[in-house]
Amino acid sequence: MDANIIEIFSSVQGEGRYVGCRQLFVRFEGCNLKCEYCDTEHEAGLHTLCQVETYPGSRKFSDAINPLEPSEVAAYINRFLQALPHQAISFTGGEPLLHSAFLSELIPMINAPVMLETNGTLPDRLERVIDLIDIISMDIKLPQMTGADHWADHKRFLELAQKKDVYVKLVITGDTDMEDFQRAIDMVAGINPDIMLVLQPVTPVNGVAEASPDLMLELQQQALECLRDVRVIPQTHRMMNQL
Ligand code: SF4
Repeated sequence: MDANIIEIFSSVQGEGRYVGCRQLFVRFEGCNLKCEYCDTEHEAGLHTLCQVETYPGSRKFSDAINPLEPSEVAAYINRFLQALPHQAISFTGGEPLLHSAFLSELIPMINAPVMLETNGTLPDRLERVIDLIDIISMDIKLPQMTGADHWADHKRFLELAQKKDVYVKLVITGDTDMEDFQRAIDMVAGINPDIMLVLQPVTPVNGVAEASPDLMLELQQQALECLRDVRVIPQTHRMMNQL
């Protein structure tokens, strides 16, 4: 059991409910989707080396040879945790649930809260590891962003995830389809209207249209008609020049 990891580093969580918290990030290679605003080199097999920060926050990196074993990644994580307490270990990507078997072996070897940053489309894989996870940051991917329909998978995923500390993140562009937006709100509200929704204005890459300030206010208002906690939070790590 091994996996290609792109990087392991300590930084400030820039998105979602835990924005501002110090977290340790483990970024897996590979994703099952292809979002038009994706800013991660997520294609499988591209990374022969994993960049591992030498000390939390040093921004100096050494190379580890991919693929890595769960015990090797656990050793790096535990070294970071000894040097500095972190609010959580964030498994991100790419799509970390593509590596659910790897996570099942790895997580019991570390002693810190575990957060999953996931595109929310792989409920079967979530089911295999959910007992090991503390926090779930789940994206909803509207069909226009990926060219595919994920509604059934998202629904099942959120039904499973709601027994954990979960929040839902929806990236908003200037071209967000209003019917699909309302469908996403209705889906979350139908499962539990107390689930927190984060509306994240897109960081414009690949020519994706920016969401205007007025649009963000309008969508927050629309979502608040069905959900109790709706927040507008951009990718703050980019404003702070953090990784
Ligand atoms: S789910 Fe995330 S990593 Fe995968 S393509 Fe979309 S933005 Fe990129």
